[in-house]
Amino acid sequence: MKTAVKHMVARMFLWIRDLLDPAVNFEEVSVLCYHSVSDASSDTVVSKNAFERHLALLKKSGMSIVPLSDVVAWVRGEKTLPRKAVALTFDDGYADFETTVVPILERYQASATVFVVGDESAARACLGNDTSLLSGEAIERLRANPLIEVGYHSRTHANLAKLSGEALKREVGQPEGMNYFAYPGGNHSPDATRTIREAGYQAAFSIHPGLVRRASDRFLMPRNVILNAMPLWQVRVRATKAIDWYRFTTRCIKKL
Ligand SMILES: [Zn+2]
Repeated sequence: MKTAVKHMVARMFLWIRDLLDPAVNFEEVSVLCYHSVSDASSDTVVSKNAFERHLALLKKSGMSIVPLSDVVAWVRGEKTLPRKAVALTFDDGYADFETTVVPILERYQASATVFVVGDESAARACLGNDTSLLSGEAIERLRANPLIEVGYHSRTHANLAKLSGEALKREVGQPEGMNYFAYPGGNHSPDATRTIREAGYQAAFSIHPGLVRRASDRFLMPRNVILNAMPLWQVRVRATKAIDWYRFTTRCIKKL
């Protein structure tokens, strides 16, 4: 499908969702995935101003920003969530998470999870940028912040789908106090998923778009990646039922 048509379809679903929202409980639980929040030029980088606009939009739309642990507990059937719940995650562990993102989160009293890599110098080649990463001391400071959870994003940001045995175990690790894992580049395999589960993590996150459901596989949880060129309505699509309808439609069209 051409981009303009895709946008039209997504906007139409958002419009239908907004129309039905007062009458229907869609049970919307979305995990958003950010990377660096800065002025660096990359598809995955969101500017500070854009990120602030996203939080203001979520608040204005009546969405509750909840800790990722609440989403995992909800999937396990151990907790209820607000009707419109969004969890924020940040991959790679860029230093701007502490300096730029956390002050904004504190202003909104919003929780977030940052997924860090274990070996910065080895990960650098995979990340393909020179944006500073969080230091060990910064990670310790973040752990002490009640709004922040720290998860693991592998040792070197390797493609886990290409690894097995000891090499896979080394990448997956299980650094102390980290309960959640995010697949680097979204790459996963049954072997990687099993290794993560056996290492003792409570959940692992992909970058397959869609809403989280009660029946979601805890070790392949969907997340909606936010890119820098996305207008606000596209952020809303990814936080609402519109993303599921859009995904379903595009999958069906691909099968035709
Ligand atoms: Zn990553």
